[in-house]
Amino acid sequence: MSAGTARPTAREVRRHKWWGWGQDDVAFRHDNKPAFAPLARDKISLDLATSVPDPDPDLSLLEVPPSGLPEAVREQLASAVGEDNLLLEDEFRVLHSFGRSLPDLVRVRAGGYERLVDAVVYPASEDEIEAVLRIVLDHDLVLIPYGGGSCISGSVTPDPAERRPVITLNMGRLDRVVDIDETAGLARVEAGVYGPDLEEQLQERGWTMGHFPDSFTYSTLGGWAATRSSGMQSDKYGDIEDIVRGLRVVHPRGVISTKAIPGRDSGPSLHELLLGSEGRLGIISECTVQVHRVASVRQVIAYMYPDWEHGIRGMHAIARSEVSPTFTRLSDGPETEFSLAMVKEPTSTKGKVAAKVQDTLFAYLRSKGWQTQGEMCISYVCFEGTKEHVEREKSIVKKIVSRNGGITLGSGPGAIYDQKKFDTPYLRDFLMSHQVFGDVCDTGATWSRINEIHSRVYDAFHAQRREVGKPGFMFCHMSHSYHAGACLYFTFAIPYESEETALEEYYGAKRRVQQAFVDHGSTVSHHHAVGTEHQPWIEEDITSLGADVIRGVFAQNDPGRNLNPGKIV
Ligand code: FAD
Repeated sequence: MSAGTARPTAREVRRHKWWGWGQDDVAFRHDNKPAFAPLARDKISLDLATSVPDPDPDLSLLEVPPSGLPEAVREQLASAVGEDNLLLEDEFRVLHSFGRSLPDLVRVRAGGYERLVDAVVYPASEDEIEAVLRIVLDHDLVLIPYGGGSCISGSVTPDPAERRPVITLNMGRLDRVVDIDETAGLARVEAGVYGPDLEEQLQERGWTMGHFPDSFTYSTLGGWAATRSSGMQSDKYGDIEDIVRGLRVVHPRGVISTKAIPGRDSGPSLHELLLGSEGRLGIISECTVQVHRVASVRQVIAYMYPDWEHGIRGMHAIARSEVSPTFTRLSDGPETEFSLAMVKEPTSTKGKVAAKVQDTLFAYLRSKGWQTQGEMCISYVCFEGTKEHVEREKSIVKKIVSRNGGITLGSGPGAIYDQKKFDTPYLRDFLMSHQVFGDVCDTGATWSRINEIHSRVYDAFHAQRREVGKPGFMFCHMSHSYHAGACLYFTFAIPYESEETALEEYYGAKRRVQQAFVDHGSTVSHHHAVGTEHQPWIEEDITSLGADVIRGVFAQNDPGRNLNPGKIV
């Protein structure tokens, strides 16, 4: 990883299990969470005592169409990156043909593949990327850049109607921090580095980039930049567009470089145009990113509010105050109920004492008229800096929370949240094995309309569930706070009837939620990219004329539609 260590080979690059999230030997389990099964029964009619999970999918039972890569092209690609870094095997082609959206997971498990990528190529330098792109253009092929394949927007999936051979360019061998300008706090980093490997290289020198999306373990710097990602600590460190100060992009006609300068007036922002371009304008080979010294103290404190309206008032007051927390997050009533159901049965004496304290606290809150199930809202605020700074900010926030009807719970629940934050993605695979879809939709909202959007989205979702006569559970949190507003992040779970109708059932609910976002003046997504999944709403979001401008840029730069065609517009 660091200069001097060998780059990983193609087979050593980190990868998901081909059919789901994360590591092969890690899975969600509920038997150690006593409140989980009752919640599943109550909210989505899933009886875990009787439901038999589907076995893990087995690729050897599925028919995988052969690669259509012409031999002459294969030879040229192998000579560009080395035989060992060109993979055509079924498992690699299947894995790279799908991201991690719900429809992708349904399709990858079902088999009967309409279109798979024909080859996966792993370059180890910008020169090799250029060589691969030259071959792609000379033979009129399609090239899809690939970071961790964690997108939930359909952005790495080839168009089923594509007739030309499709090459996936896996960036995972480009995994190094090249250098750090310690005076400016700017690091030059290769774009294929995964979150944990990036932070390890930075933190061993005392720096952090501070970008921690929930998909951190299986997503890359280039993927974050190409999708305008947002990490949970964006309140302090910014969204990826604030973090990435300069870019190198391999374009069909050469290399574009944007200078890593703190401010610029070079006309319309080319840099911004490249961010979020999902591989349609070229391949991001390197990013220069803003880095920060690792804080000496970090604490996550939990708070509780009686309901959503009080919580939002508190969150807004924190955003307007002089404090600068690392993150602020408010779960609504249903999400708080869900979080409590994810708590493990205490086994240690300390855990048992904590559970007793919680019971006593909840009894007290009920005596004060709080509704402790489905209404009260848990909130987390993270503070970083020197001890004095953290203590001062905690004390200001404590007063703000109290003025807005909330109470401070302390650092215990906050630490548990901080340790478990990357585990939840495994839940989706568990639910799918019990014929339940769990998925997310996110949007940005101004403080003036945040409550309205929150309620309208619930209305839309529950109206759809009533129409189809099926249960559904939705919950939401507010995160990524800004001066003008914040992100609302909805999660929903719906049982589905059969494999044949699964996608139709899923889109019935998902489309209603997305439509509610744009109908109520919000964005199609706050940080989950456009790809193909959010494309139906892009014109409502940025106007038809705006979408036409973007189309024109893509057509002018990639007239042969060789670069990830069909994504965004
Ligand atoms: P990929 O999925 O491989 O690619 C995404 C797009 O970027 C594709 O169009 C691809 O062609 C393009 N691309 C990738 N690398 C490059 C490159 N080097 N040059 C040019 N184009 C490139 N997103 C968030 O922002 N915040 C979250 O908290 C978050 N949580 C998630 C949790 C889960 C469980 C899942 C499944 C997804 C989550 N996502 C989140 C979405 C996803 O992780 C992000 O979109 C992420 O930025 C994708 O990065 P990646 O490296 O996996 O890119």
